[in-house]
Amino acid sequence: HDLRNEDLKDLRELGQGNGGSVKKVEHLPTGTIMAKKIVLIDAKPSVRKQILRELQIMHDCHCDYIISFYGAFISDPNICICMEYMDKGSLDGIYKKIGPIDIDVVGKVALAVLEGLTYLYDVHRIIHRDIKPSNILFNSKGQVKICDFGVSGELINSIADTFVGTSTYMSPERIQGAQYTVKSDVWSLGISLIELALGRFPFAESSSDDSDLSDFEGTLSPSRPHPTISLTREQKDKKKKRKSKGVSLQGGGMTMSILELLQHIVNEPAPRLTPEGRFPREAEDFVDSCLLKDPDARKTPKDLLKHSWIERSRTATIDLEAWASTF
Ligand code: ATP
Ligand code: MG
Repeated sequence: HDLRNEDLKDLRELGQGNGGSVKKVEHLPTGTIMAKKIVLIDAKPSVRKQILRELQIMHDCHCDYIISFYGAFISDPNICICMEYMDKGSLDGIYKKIGPIDIDVVGKVALAVLEGLTYLYDVHRIIHRDIKPSNILFNSKGQVKICDFGVSGELINSIADTFVGTSTYMSPERIQGAQYTVKSDVWSLGISLIELALGRFPFAESSSDDSDLSDFEGTLSPSRPHPTISLTREQKDKKKKRKSKGVSLQGGGMTMSILELLQHIVNEPAPRLTPEGRFPREAEDFVDSCLLKDPDARKTPKDLLKHSWIERSRTATIDLEAWASTF
C-alpha cells in the first residue's frame, strides 16, 4: 500500500503556491485520482525523514471536514504529499471565478472550518496555522474541507522562510511574535470569510479619509491577495538580505510595504463585514468575534460552534451540491 512516484501519472497542474506546486494525478494501480503536493525541501536527509514521520499523523485524521491523506514520500529533492482531490478547487479560485459568495454558503464554510479546526485540536492537538481561502477546498458533492495544516514541526521550520506571502491572514498577536494558538486560526477564518463574502481581500478596503491605507489599496486587490507572491526569486533574495529595513515592494505600478500592512493589522481596527445592513446581523457579529484583536477575548473554534449564526448555518437547508453545479 506504499505510494510510489512511479505509480502516479500526472494529469494536470492544479496550482502553485509559495511552498511548491500541486498536481492532479492518477494512482495507476488503483485508478484513484489524487492531488499531489510537491514541496521542495532544502534540508538534510535526516530532516526529510523526520518530516515524513511527522506527516504520518495525517493517516489518523478522519473527519468529514479534513482532506483525506493517501501518503507521502521523498522524491529528491522534494517531499510529495498525496491527498484527496477536490474537484471544485479552493475557495479563492471559486470567488475569483464567480464573484462574491452568497452569505448562506459562507455560513456553511464557516461551520465546516470550525468543525475541522475543532477536530484537529481536540483529537490531535494540531493547530492549523494557515487558514485562508486557498486552503479551504470544495467538491461537486458539496463538501467543504480544509487542507495544509501544520502537522509537521520540521516541515514548518524548513519552509518557514518561503512563507512570507501568507502573513496577510496572520493575527495581530502572531505578527507581534506571540505563541500560535487555535485562536490565531480563528482570526484567519474571520479574514477569509470577509474575503469570500465581499469577493475581495478585506485589507483592500479603504476608508477614503485614510491616506496610508489607500496607498496599498491597489496592490491588495482580489486578484492579488498575497502581495509577496509576485516577487521574483531575485527580489526575494534582496528582501531577505534587507529584512530589517522594511523594503518597499513594487507591483502593478503601486508601491507598498509588507511592514505597512503588518503594522496596519496590528494598529488599526479589524476589518468588518460591510457595508452595514448588507449581511445578516448574526453574520456580522460572528465575523466581529473572530476578529477581536485581543486573543484573550477571542473565542476558540469549539466555542464559536455555539454561535447563533453557526447554529443557523448548521440547520440551513441550502443545497451545496446544487450550488456546486452552477460553476
Ligand atoms: P500558499 O503556498 O501561500 O499556501 P496555496 O495554498 O495557494 O498558497 P498550494 O497549497 O501549493 O498553495 O496549492 C496550490 C493550489 O492548488 C491551491 O490554490 C488549490 O487551488 C489547489 N489545490 C491544493 N490542494 C488541492 C486538492 N487537494 N484538490 C484540488 N485542488 C487543490
Ligand atoms: Mg495550500
